[in-house]
Amino acid sequence: MGNVALHRINATVFYAYQICKREAWLYFHRLNPPQEHPLLDLGRLVHETTYRRLRKEIFVDQLLKIDLFQGELVAEVKRSSKHRESARLQLLFYLYYLKREKGLTLKGVLLFPEERKTERVELTSELETRVETMLQEMASALNTDKPPPPVKIPYCRSCSFQEICWG
Ligand code: SF4
Repeated sequence: MGNVALHRINATVFYAYQICKREAWLYFHRLNPPQEHPLLDLGRLVHETTYRRLRKEIFVDQLLKIDLFQGELVAEVKRSSKHRESARLQLLFYLYYLKREKGLTLKGVLLFPEERKTERVELTSELETRVETMLQEMASALNTDKPPPPVKIPYCRSCSFQEICWG
């Protein structure tokens, strides 16, 4: 990934982009939501209380925040499986980055502790191409002066930026 914009796409931006491009733009341009949002607290609580013994958060190049490793698996913990496809893509992005930038070929697992669900994730060559295409698309879509206009979606109700968008 040689492009400067690509190196600014972190895990939060990547995940948000699958749900709302405006939210991704706001994160990409370092506009963080108010910290007291109740869902942020809930998300933190899940992160702080689940897998506490196993947890070893690892930051990679300030772009990835890996929740923990389960053996050879890169594990990502989510509060709910509601945005399962976005979570799957985010984990694929981790696996892609670790392979391309660090020479590590790993597999992943999604953990939804509140729902007692797990899902194994593997970076096939087709998915690698898909992640690469997505990163290129994101880099040009997010590297603009103004954010996309807000579009009302069900997720707005729980989004940390709702006051900024819909005040
Ligand atoms: S409130 Fe809605 S439109 Fe605004 S960033 Fe969040 S999801 Fe996107």
